[in-house]
Amino acid sequence: MKGLCILGATGSIGVSTLDVAARHPHLYKVVALTANSNIDVLFDQCLAHQPQYAVVADESKAQEFKNKIASSTVSDIKVLSGAKALEEVATLDEVDSVMAAIVGAAGLLPTLAAAKAGKTVLLANKEALVMSGDIFMSAVSESGAHLLPIDSEHNAIFQCMPAHYETGTDGKQVRRILLTASGGPFREMPIEKMVDVTPEQAVAHPNWDMGKKISVDSATMMNKGLEMIEACLLFNMSPDQIQVVIHPQSVIHSMVDYVDGTVLAQMGNPDMRIPIAHAMAWPERFESGAKPLNIFDVKRMDFEEPNLERFPCLRLAYKAINAGGTMPTVLNAANEIAVEAFLNREIKFTDIPVIIEKAMDSVPVFSAGNLEVILEHDGKARETAKHIIAELNY
Ligand code: NAD
Ligand code: MG
Repeated sequence: MKGLCILGATGSIGVSTLDVAARHPHLYKVVALTANSNIDVLFDQCLAHQPQYAVVADESKAQEFKNKIASSTVSDIKVLSGAKALEEVATLDEVDSVMAAIVGAAGLLPTLAAAKAGKTVLLANKEALVMSGDIFMSAVSESGAHLLPIDSEHNAIFQCMPAHYETGTDGKQVRRILLTASGGPFREMPIEKMVDVTPEQAVAHPNWDMGKKISVDSATMMNKGLEMIEACLLFNMSPDQIQVVIHPQSVIHSMVDYVDGTVLAQMGNPDMRIPIAHAMAWPERFESGAKPLNIFDVKRMDFEEPNLERFPCLRLAYKAINAGGTMPTVLNAANEIAVEAFLNREIKFTDIPVIIEKAMDSVPVFSAGNLEVILEHDGKARETAKHIIAELNY
């Protein structure tokens, strides 16, 4: 029986993780659930899954939640609050596996704490990895933690990779990774019309049902940019070994191209319960609840090269990883600020890459030697991006 902590239980990945866990009550026990401020959903999850701990990160919502739990049938649940409590539950002795499903930089410290504590880290929170890069990967190797990718593409790559690629030896068998992307909702929109894209249009993804931030990232293709950096870190590859491939049907979730000419692909319906169940059952397999793929329904599979003029965010991600050091941290932070401003209707969709590039050009790159440097540059990039937005003067 494994103890499970879900960081970001109320989000899209968190809800899918609970769905999978509930199918295997003899294998997983839910120990801790966390949310930022969505206390109604967290309360329902507590009633249904009866964890030992529940964390409300947003202090202003914590007291109301504590009162609700105290007068419920699950009053023995220990309720904690604040950002530190996320780290506390991610490192509990009773916890074996931590689903890192907080969105954005807010997930970094608890995910890193889980990695340092040697937990099995099920990593959905790609921003945490992109911003901390080698520091995160070193924490994993030093503690002996298992790091299993949840991002559908990285989970697909993980399944297609040779054993022991982590050591770098078997990596020599791999020529490159083909990282697939749906292309999002604006793949075919005339480029000059993209300036008028609304938040509602941007969050309506054609194939996947996800949180708002990652949906906007998919529409700009910054999501693929972050995933390219994520793939370099997870699989010890250089950026020129990652080829982004637009595959609008989202049947193949990524491929590994071997030196002998073999290409291995992982396929399935677009349902995040598949990579979640893969990682939770690893190295075994169990049922995920996802609809099996009917290969006869797959009428065609298209593949095209991404157009960097349409998707400048993808170009910026390559620019950031090639600059190295703290630049991926700056890329991620400026993107988080720009996406939030777009969702709040403060900027246009096409301003997102402009703001990120200006922030990248203004914050000097530093060697990302320790967490303090990372957090300092994350903060600087956020301030700079806010400044740039204020100067847009809408
Ligand atoms: P979401 O917006 O649906 O959920 C985010 C979760 O994080 C919520 O539980 C929220 O309460 C919590 N959270 C937000 N801010 C917080 C804060 N400051 N402190 C503590 N908790 C906070 O997001 P999602 O779509 O589930 O995505 C989660 C992560 O998984 C992201 O990093 C995303 O890139 C990644 N991911 C998601 C999908 C998907 O299909 N949704 C696929 C691949 C990767
Ligand atoms: Mg993905």
